[in-house]
Amino acid sequence: MSTLQQYKCPCCDGAIEFDSSLQKMKCPYCDTEFEMETLLSYDNELKNEQADNMTWDTKAGSEWQEGETDGLREYICNSCGGEIVGDETTAATSCPFCGNPVVMMGQFMGA
Ligand SMILES: [Zn+2]
Ligand SMILES: [Zn+2]
Repeated sequence: MSTLQQYKCPCCDGAIEFDSSLQKMKCPYCDTEFEMETLLSYDNELKNEQADNMTWDTKAGSEWQEGETDGLREYICNSCGGEIVGDETTAATSCPFCGNPVVMMGQFMGA
């Protein structure tokens, strides 16, 4: 039984446990039941999304450097060095990678 992988509930992010009476995975926090198959495909989707995001990051980065930056500003997160993109109206946001609050100083220079 200890070989079971740990899954997170897509609804509440709680740890899902295998309910042997139901023969299903069940979230003890929000009572949502999952078929193993559903979880496995959900898991695969997550992996695919992560792969997609990585490609997207690289591509988008180079595109923007080539002048697709109309109204977009790039900032580097002080905390994790991640690239944060905001538009001209964005004064403050938070880093999508580490959640660090980012104040887009210099945004109003020349405006
Ligand atoms: Zn849940
Ligand atoms: Zn960050």
